[in-house]
Amino acid sequence: MKKKSLAFAVIICVMLFGALFYRNLWENKGFERTEFLFDTQCTVKAYGDNAQKAVEAAFDRLYEIHRATDFFSEDSQVATINNAAQGEAVIVEPHVQNIITAALDVSKASLGAFDITVAPLVSLWDFSGEGRVPKETEISDALAYTGIDKISFDEKNKVRKAFKEVKIDLGGAAKGYAADEAIRVLTEYGVLGAIVDLGGNISCMGQNPNTKDGKWRIGLQKPFSATGEYDEIIEIKSGAVVTSGTYQRYFEKDGKKYHHIIDPKTGHPAEREYSSVTIVAQNSLYADCLATACFVMGEEDGRALAENFGAEIYFK
Ligand code: ADP
Ligand code: MG
Repeated sequence: MKKKSLAFAVIICVMLFGALFYRNLWENKGFERTEFLFDTQCTVKAYGDNAQKAVEAAFDRLYEIHRATDFFSEDSQVATINNAAQGEAVIVEPHVQNIITAALDVSKASLGAFDITVAPLVSLWDFSGEGRVPKETEISDALAYTGIDKISFDEKNKVRKAFKEVKIDLGGAAKGYAADEAIRVLTEYGVLGAIVDLGGNISCMGQNPNTKDGKWRIGLQKPFSATGEYDEIIEIKSGAVVTSGTYQRYFEKDGKKYHHIIDPKTGHPAEREYSSVTIVAQNSLYADCLATACFVMGEEDGRALAENFGAEIYFK
């Protein structure tokens, strides 16, 4: 009888150990999915219970935000604003409200270095197409419709434009917001830990089961490195690491590179001595706006702005 219960106890122990080992193995492997969205590779990876369901739900949220903010789709909220007449009130849904609120906040704090009304200028340079160098007269015409004083945002949900020609582009902020929202969904699903990478906008939460201290290690890419070498590794428990750089999207004409971060004062790509700016902060939406803003502002003013928002900043 004694022998039997001992054997039984051993079997139970082996089964328990096996289950724990299997669970650990599974948790460390996680569930990962990559899709092309926001004009870039988007990867969401989660660990622990519910990982797969959580990643799928996170992608649903990413698609929802993409649909609302896509500059090129006629069905987006951004298109509705851009097609609106002078003074017409366009009521925007909560995702777009959240993005515009942060964008205007960073616009004011950066004295216009970040500006969602750069859309007419961005279109002139055709960064998402072949790329072209516009005439100075085209740039000065577009500058007349640039500036956040050309839009009003009343009762936190109504957008009105001072001229029909004013257009907005949420390309400098939407991915940051989407990363925050993906993390929110993953957290709601109760995953152990997760990392979201939306082409340069990285956010993470919870435990990284593959490091001893549970932290996430995020490499800052060497600008223009063909092999994707890292310059520096950032370790964080949770939060966002967002990079805006000249090497992600640019075109070349007559031996000169033209990148997609526009200085709203000149209408030209911001010419700076560095190639990228990385912001480390808790909130990815703000980090995204700040990365673009600080790139335009230059090192001294950029550092001061990041500090105002309690964010870390790296120039490369
Ligand atoms: P990425 O899209 O590569 O992550 P950014 O976050 O820096 O890079 O956003 C750049 C995009 O934001 C551009 O492609 C354009 O759509 C828009 N943009 C360019 N210049 C500005 C600016 N000064 N303020 C706000 N948005 C900008
Ligand atoms: Mg940005």
